[in-house]
Amino acid sequence: MTDVGGAPMVAARGLSRTYGSEPSTVHALRDVSLDVRSGEMLAVVGRSGSGKTTLLNLLGGLDRPDSGTVRVDGTELTGLDDAGLSTLRRETVSYVFQSFGLLPSLTALENVGVPLRLRRTPVAERERRAALLLDLVGLGAHAAQRPGELSGGQQQRVAIARALAGSPRLLIADEPTGQLDAETGLSVMALLRGIVESEGVTAVVATHDQVLVSLADRVLTIADGRVET
Ligand code: ADP
Ligand code: MG
Repeated sequence: MTDVGGAPMVAARGLSRTYGSEPSTVHALRDVSLDVRSGEMLAVVGRSGSGKTTLLNLLGGLDRPDSGTVRVDGTELTGLDDAGLSTLRRETVSYVFQSFGLLPSLTALENVGVPLRLRRTPVAERERRAALLLDLVGLGAHAAQRPGELSGGQQQRVAIARALAGSPRLLIADEPTGQLDAETGLSVMALLRGIVESEGVTAVVATHDQVLVSLADRVLTIADGRVET
């Protein structure tokens, strides 16, 4: 762990988020507070519908809370306008989703390079870094293949490499193993675990697979939109 005893990478206070309007309001998140230390891998567990995705979206600036505050790497997200949140998502936070989200017409190498293209990184440097990251996730030999030519586990590895391309401080993964069989899921989770250590990134990973939880540094359980203590 790279925690040097400074401010946490993520500090959330009193987060609430409701969907819809009366009388059918859904309280997806109720008064949730948490810190994630720098270099930590936090697992967020809870049944389907408990509020995991809602929480992750608030921590990564994909959504705004009805009340409460989120600070990521020293920046108060509540104070950012949409352009500020876009910058945060480009520079500081990256996402891995259950459904991989790769662009089908691009090769693995090109998919990994997408965040660098958005930053206007020169082609040669982009390809060099993308190749390095594909090696890191064990797919160096598959650089020229398109997502349709890769297994689910391989596609998720490409998505993880892509998530690292922009050197994020915070990696948010929403049920990254949800579409994978148990064995593949475990290997993807172990890969994430190793990356947190080797790349010095902080990770928040939602899962409802108890086996995967054992790889995390800490577990936050949510039930019905609240943190269970
Ligand atoms: P989880 O990721 O743990 O399955 P979610 O955060 O997706 O949980 O959902 C929490 C609750 O909020 C659920 O009751 C869900 O139905 C509801 N919810 C999530 N997103 C929306 C939405 N866009 N509109 C209405 N209700 C939603
Ligand atoms: Mg979810």
